[in-house]
Amino acid sequence: MPIKIPRAPKKAEKKPAVRTGKKFGFQSVKGMHDTLPEDFGYRDKVEKAVKKVANFYGFLHIDTPILEDAKLYERGTGLTSEVVEKQMYTIRTGTGEYVALRPEQTPGVVRAYIEHALVYSYNPGKFYYSGPMFRHEQPQSGRFRQFNQCGFEILNSNDMVYHAQIIEASYKICQELKLKNVQVKLNSIGCRNCRPGYVKKLKEYYKDKLSKICKDCTQRYKDNPLRMLDCKNEKCVPFKAEAPQSIDHLCTSCKRDFKTVLEYMDELHVPYMIDVTLVRGLDYYTKTVFELFAGEEGNALGGGGGYDYLSEILGGPKMPGVGAALGVERLIGTMKSQGVAPLPPMQSKVFLVYMGDQAKKRLLSMLEEFYEAGITVHEAFAKESLKAQLKVADKEKAEYALIVGQKEVFEEMVLLRDMKNGSQETVPMKRIVETIKKKI
Ligand code: AMP
Repeated sequence: MPIKIPRAPKKAEKKPAVRTGKKFGFQSVKGMHDTLPEDFGYRDKVEKAVKKVANFYGFLHIDTPILEDAKLYERGTGLTSEVVEKQMYTIRTGTGEYVALRPEQTPGVVRAYIEHALVYSYNPGKFYYSGPMFRHEQPQSGRFRQFNQCGFEILNSNDMVYHAQIIEASYKICQELKLKNVQVKLNSIGCRNCRPGYVKKLKEYYKDKLSKICKDCTQRYKDNPLRMLDCKNEKCVPFKAEAPQSIDHLCTSCKRDFKTVLEYMDELHVPYMIDVTLVRGLDYYTKTVFELFAGEEGNALGGGGGYDYLSEILGGPKMPGVGAALGVERLIGTMKSQGVAPLPPMQSKVFLVYMGDQAKKRLLSMLEEFYEAGITVHEAFAKESLKAQLKVADKEKAEYALIVGQKEVFEEMVLLRDMKNGSQETVPMKRIVETIKKKI
């Protein structure tokens, strides 16, 4: 006799009385956020796109520790960059080590390339990464203290084709995610030879405006004048339009390199515009700098540029590089605002339902048989009633429920229920995996 299936209960199961939400004593630390299962459909989609693009362009996966020697960033990212000066989480350990939670990944990748002499295996070295970064910023929309970046680095080549390829790969991720209106802003900030002359011109221009610009910019004037062009303060914005432009002060080789990058960009059909005020926040950038935006959204999706001297600054060999980093949360934010669907949640077409302890034990071994056959099956073993288990199966949109009670265990049979039309059949246990394989 088939097992009678009770109808799903109308009332929700009573929730246990526990302190949840705000009543619970702990919350995530300010600026840090949980990624809940419902968000992983977006995050996994980003990861999938990154992997696909990276594989296509021949970038190899690399990961470096979240904790690094703090001096790596002080020297590499630069003491005058906001990231190091104001936002870096540093720790003095009990044994006197001075370490930092990585605020970005480029110096770590460069360190690893030199430390492991990867130049002998990968030249140029083309790497991609994805992982959490930490910056003690003021949290706001699209700005967190722990956030994820995915990015690319190309080391030991000064071929401008790789400047274009890094931009192309970053753009391709946005395309893979079906983001609309993505645009690249580009500029060149020159090299060691031409930048000092340009900075001198910039300082001359700002000299008589020091009393009119914001406090941060008066400091930038002394430490890092280029960053004045990056300032969003309303006091400073009007002065940017008349400020001298780096592309007018490039040396012959930087001018040629920038022209080459633009020619490659034209070949690649990546929509770009030149933004003469684009300078980027990290100190090591040279030559090409760029940022990606989606439509009118104010926050950049990502950015990057060349860093010809980073290796030398860290005490390594002469080794030009170029890289880009995209903010995963920013990509996800844009996916959401543009209505891009996440990956569907992991679902199982088959659901195991038990009645009684013996059946539960038998289903445990059946679960393993399905695993061996490569078929995903779900269960709700913590629920006792048939009704509650079928409710979960229904919620998970399972197509088949495999129901086993004491009688079925005894007869070595399984009751196979089609969840769509409610029809049921009995199948010998030893043939159940094979039967399901045919059905799904
Ligand atoms: P950067 O390493 O500063 O060049 O930043 C590259 C990208 O990382 C940015 O364009 C953002 O998409 C993302 N990003 C940087 N800082 C944050 C932050 N505090 N919160 C979220 N995303 C960030």
